Amino acid sequence: MADQPIPLVINDLHKRFGDNPVLKGLSLEAHQGDVISLIGASGSGKSTFLRCMNLLERPDAGDIVVHGEHISFRQLRNGRVPADWKQVERIRAKLSMVFQNFNLWAHLTLLQNVIEAPIHVLGVPKREARERGMALLERVGLSDRADYFPAQLSGGQQQRGAIARALAMEPEVMLFDEPTSALDPELVGGVLKVMRELAEEGRTMIVVTHEMDFARDVSSQVMFLHQGRVEESGKPQDVLNNPRSERLKQFLAPSF
Ligand code: ADP
Ligand code: MG
Repeated sequence: MADQPIPLVINDLHKRFGDNPVLKGLSLEAHQGDVISLIGASGSGKSTFLRCMNLLERPDAGDIVVHGEHISFRQLRNGRVPADWKQVERIRAKLSMVFQNFNLWAHLTLLQNVIEAPIHVLGVPKREARERGMALLERVGLSDRADYFPAQLSGGQQQRGAIARALAMEPEVMLFDEPTSALDPELVGGVLKVMRELAEEGRTMIVVTHEMDFARDVSSQVMFLHQGRVEESGKPQDVLNNPRSERLKQFLAPSF
């Protein structure tokens, strides 16, 4: 496996909104099976970082290498380098995102949500997509809800459905943006359980989370962001149990 490309490398990523510099040179390397938890206060740039990774936002500068495919961003004095949209699509397909608010398509059933992109983006034949979609719904405990619409499902069921939809793209890396923070407390466990199983089977994952137990138990690496920079990063037991920076100590204080 030594010659397999690294699933995700990010080098010196910058992003500003107007005159607000939000990401100030972020780098990251996710090897096969790594689970990297991103933690940090609200506004520190966690969502923007994830959205830049799969190009929902356009970085101003930096490099992204997804499974060996390289895309480079530079700020030119007289404008931006035009995006190669085919490449953007390919990269996006390799990095599936799970959002805080599920973002299932309301007018499609759960199974239709899961098979939509495999059919229309990957060109998987419909029958095969349905079979694989049903197997994925079974994995997240929703095989009896395939024909329900999102509004007929609980938040936890919708989020597990969103995870099945992300898995259906067979991504190199899964990106999670606070996947449990919009859920009622009793529904959080079911979603975290599915995520733990994905980690155990060796999926590469980047997870923005406030669930410190999850970050401690499941991550291979924890990164603490502060104002668009990595303030501290390392093994979860070091970062979460023996924080060095004052800012991280303060951030973790309520759980100490
Ligand atoms: P986090 O996810 O850590 O809470 P965000 O990445 O959402 O942080 O936001 C980081 C900063 O970027 C905040 O100051 C936020 O207001 C700003 N920001 C995020 N998205 C946009 C946007 N689309 N337009 C302008 N500013 C934005
Ligand atoms: Mg956010």
